[in-house]
Amino acid sequence: MFSTSKIEISKSALANNLNFIRDLMGPNVQFSSVIKGNAYGHHIELFAPIAEQCGVDHFSVFSADEALRVLKVSNGVSTIMIMGQIDNQEIKWAIENDIEFFIFEPDRLEATLEIAKKTGRKAKVHLEVETGMNRTGFEPTEMPRVIELLQNNPDHLAFQGLCTHYAGAESIANYYRVKKQKITFSKLQKALKLEGLHPVYNHTACSAAAMRFPTTRMDMVRIGILQYGFFPSREVMVDYMTRAETKEIPLKRLISWKSKIMDVKHVKTGEFIGYGTSFLANRDMIVATVPVGYSHGFSRSLSNQGRVLVQGARVSVIGTVNMNMMTIDVTELESVKKGDEVVLIGKQGDLEISVSSFGEFSDQLNYELLTRLPNSIPREVVD
Ligand SMILES: *Cc1c(COP(=O)(O)O)cnc(C)c1O
Repeated sequence: MFSTSKIEISKSALANNLNFIRDLMGPNVQFSSVIKGNAYGHHIELFAPIAEQCGVDHFSVFSADEALRVLKVSNGVSTIMIMGQIDNQEIKWAIENDIEFFIFEPDRLEATLEIAKKTGRKAKVHLEVETGMNRTGFEPTEMPRVIELLQNNPDHLAFQGLCTHYAGAESIANYYRVKKQKITFSKLQKALKLEGLHPVYNHTACSAAAMRFPTTRMDMVRIGILQYGFFPSREVMVDYMTRAETKEIPLKRLISWKSKIMDVKHVKTGEFIGYGTSFLANRDMIVATVPVGYSHGFSRSLSNQGRVLVQGARVSVIGTVNMNMMTIDVTELESVKKGDEVVLIGKQGDLEISVSSFGEFSDQLNYELLTRLPNSIPREVVD
C-alpha cells in the first residue's frame, strides 16, 4: 500500500456530529464548517465532499490556497469563506469564483473595491472588527472610512458579514474578556445599523462560544473541532454534560490511525532499548517495532509515555520515538507477530485511544495534534 500507516475517516460519525450541532443551534442559524488546517488533519479533499453529502453548504478556511482546494472538490453550490490570509493579487480570483473573505484592514478594503470595479462583479465581504482579541479586526478609528466606502459602493461591495473572534471561549478563565468582546460587538452592530448598513450574517461563535454562550450564535456559527468529534476543552465538555444532564458523550470521533507491527524481538533483563539509556529492560521483554515516528506526526514527547492498541490490549511506547519508528512493549502478548494491527488513534476491540488522552501525554491540544498528521498518510472514508 506504499505507506507505513493509514488514516480512516468515518462518515457516519460526521453525520452524527452534524446532527448534534444542528439540533443544538436550531434551524435559524447558518452552519459554517471550518476546514482550515487541512480540515484539522482530516484532509480537505476527502472531508469537504462527505460533509456536503451530509448537508453542509458553507465552508470556512484560513487562506486562499485552502479555498482553492475546496473549490476544486466542492459541488459548486457551497459557499467558501476565507477568514484569514488572501493576497491582494488573489482577490480577483476570489471575486470571480464567488469566494467570500474577511476584511480587517484598510489596504485590503481599498484593493477589493478597485478590483470589484474593474471586474464588474460584487465582492462579498465580511468585515472583521476588533473587539478585544487584538489580532486582526478594524479599529474604531478606522470605522468611519469603512462605513463611507460601504455606503458609497453598494454595487461593488456586498456587505455579507459582520464578524469577530473570541479570545479563548473554551476556558472559563476568559469569561470576562469574552463578555466584554460581545458587548463591544453589539455596539458596533448598532452603530452600523444607524448608518443603514445591514450585514447578511452577524457571526462571532466558534465551537466553544456556540456551546457555552447561546447569544453568540447570531446568524451563523463557525464550527471546527466539534464536527470532528472533539470538545474544544474538557471544561466545555463538562459544562455541556452537566447542563444537558447526560453521561453520554454526544460526539463521535471521525478519525482512526492504524499501522502494523514491523518486527518482534526478545530482549534480556538489564539491556537498554533503542537510542541511549532512556529505557532499561527490568525483566526479559518482548519488544515490537512500529513504522511510525515523529516525522509521521507521532510526537517525540510520547517517548516512554504513549500508549497504542495491539491484539485488543493497551501497550506502552518504550524508549524514544524515532524519526520513522517507535518501539512498544508487547511482553504480555505472547502470540504477537509481524503484521499485527497497531491502533495509534481510535478503537480496537473494547478499548480506544483518543487523541485527547494522546494529547494529554504529549502536552498538545487536540487541535495541534490533529493538524500535524501529515497529508502524505493515506486517508480513506469508512462508514
Ligand atoms: C478556527 C476558527 C474557528 C473554529 O474554531 P473551533 O474551536 O475549531 O470551532 C472559528 N472562527 C475563526 C476565526 C477561526 O479561526
